[in-house]
Amino acid sequence: MPLLSGLPEVPCAKCGRRVPGLAWTALCPECRWEREGRARRLSSRIALAGTAALGVYLLFRLPPDPTARLYGGLAVVVTYLIIRRIVTRLAMEFLPP
Ligand SMILES: [Zn+2]
Repeated sequence: MPLLSGLPEVPCAKCGRRVPGLAWTALCPECRWEREGRARRLSSRIALAGTAALGVYLLFRLPPDPTARLYGGLAVVVTYLIIRRIVTRLAMEFLPP
């Protein structure tokens, strides 16, 4: 039976639940939320590992100058954010459904 909105009910690619207006081969909101949670957890761990490696490297390589330490700390924070964003995007793309 067609919906009053005119949008077809399309099954979710993972759970098969029919959702009106969903694109073909797309995930329903619940499955997408679960996948985003897994991607965020994975990206946090990877970003922490990468940031810790950079922090240890900068700890031993930077001169004791306070300005260098300040920019090193800033680089660590920015590196964490960038790695986390990239890994989240890749995980959303390549994690199995
Ligand atoms: Zn689903």
